[in-house]
Amino acid sequence: MPPPSVLFSRRSLILALLLLLACGFLATSLISYFSSRSAIRDGILNTELPLTSDNVYSEIQKDLIRPVLISSMMAQDIFLRDWVLAGERDTQQITRYLDEVMGRQETFTAFFVSDRTRTYYQAKGKLKQVEPHEWRDEWFFRLRELNTPYEINVDLDMANQDKLAVFINYRVVDYQQRFLGATGVGLSVEAVVRLIDEYQRRYHRTVYFTDTQGKVLLTGSKGGPQGVRVGERLADREHLRELLADRPTPSEGSHEYRDSEGRSHFLNARAIPELDWMLLVDKREDGALDRVRQSLYLNLAICAMITLVVLSLLNAMIKRHQDNTEALATLDSLTGLPNRRSFDLLAGQALHEAPRSTAALVALLIDLDHFKSLNDTHGHLAGDEVLRQFAEVLRGSLRQSDILCRWGGEEFIVLLREADAQGALEVAEKIRRRTEQKVFNFDGRALRLTTSIGLSTLRSGDTLDGLLTRADHALYRAKQGGRNRVCAQTPGNDHD
Ligand code: GH3
Ligand code: MG
Ligand code: MG
Repeated sequence: MPPPSVLFSRRSLILALLLLLACGFLATSLISYFSSRSAIRDGILNTELPLTSDNVYSEIQKDLIRPVLISSMMAQDIFLRDWVLAGERDTQQITRYLDEVMGRQETFTAFFVSDRTRTYYQAKGKLKQVEPHEWRDEWFFRLRELNTPYEINVDLDMANQDKLAVFINYRVVDYQQRFLGATGVGLSVEAVVRLIDEYQRRYHRTVYFTDTQGKVLLTGSKGGPQGVRVGERLADREHLRELLADRPTPSEGSHEYRDSEGRSHFLNARAIPELDWMLLVDKREDGALDRVRQSLYLNLAICAMITLVVLSLLNAMIKRHQDNTEALATLDSLTGLPNRRSFDLLAGQALHEAPRSTAALVALLIDLDHFKSLNDTHGHLAGDEVLRQFAEVLRGSLRQSDILCRWGGEEFIVLLREADAQGALEVAEKIRRRTEQKVFNFDGRALRLTTSIGLSTLRSGDTLDGLLTRADHALYRAKQGGRNRVCAQTPGNDHD
């Protein structure tokens, strides 16, 4: 297990990277989200809505403004005035005149309502008499009192199966400016409503018209935003109050507001001076921004995944690197045995525990015989392979509790714990014998080898150095004695 400080530094590195990546990814995702959002909002406010309003306006001009001109001509027409002043005698004359005005325009109805006889004339003849208390005829009595020459009114057309129509009602006056009646045309707004419906459906925006008092005159067949209906006043809509700020209609230009459910809306207002109307185009923000919001979520999910993958890969890499360096620091790379550094730690611990034990601690210093000549004869690689195989011999001859290490070169040290002198000698002898008997194999060649072993036993008050020096002396004697043997330190020659 790596020491806590290593673990801690790995964890803090991963945490720092997590923070860095998360902040970086979050910042870039949010920056791109907000910049796309503001680009889309700008696009809606400055391009989309004004364009829609331009398109609708030009359609309206085509459909509505020409009739205003025709009605104005009718109101100025000398024939009409003279015919009324002459006593409205020949009905055929007026019906022919109205038929003429209509031409081949099927959407039109042309009319004249006389103030004197209260008769409503149209191309097909007399339609009816207008009555002051009839709601359908209110417009006439309103026009009578009007100071302006005409008014535009959205109403049901009785002459045309009560379809919704826009009436342009002009005052007709005599040469002394006395009111003679009302003339003008009514035209079906079906085409306009169809156009609005098409815009609403295709672009998810709502188009509607109001008069200067903010009364809704015309919208799609399904109503305006949040169910605004023809005839309603904008000021009666709670959520528009702030936007209107005591005006009946919003000022011309682009606006933003929140509806009763808290959703953000964009609104473009434009005056149509020819009709004295306001054209309003409304678009809800969330529909428009859904795509950018979705791509923000997708971005964040991808970034989170990348962060997770990168960090877990990094974590695994660091862990492996740490394990490797730890292993390198404590193990000998050739044989995989503990190296001198870790031996010092293990031996220190064994020496510390030794006084509590009844059995002795025994050191074996093991040196391969004539190893230099094996290297010289068979090459350094053969030497390496022999060292690896010899390490296996040592491992196989010892108990789990014994301490084994490569001391350096072709020298090894063993500390036998809980051993008595006789048992230790037997272990050393076993190692010597097995080495002598083993056929070392390198590149198909059979190599033979022997080993000399020096043995020393720990005494009270002994140090590791003392123990090993005595083992070294014993080893020296084994070499001197002709090699391939075990020599134990004997009480008589301690000073060797
Ligand atoms: P002696 O019987 O007296 O111990 O003779 P020796 O040749 O074994 O002793 P010496 O100390 O003269 O030589 C040891 C040789 O071991 C010299 C060195 O090149 C070789 N050696 C040390 N470490 C390694 C190693 O890791 N791999 C290989 N192939 N050879 C090594
Ligand atoms: Mg040696
Ligand atoms: Mg040697």
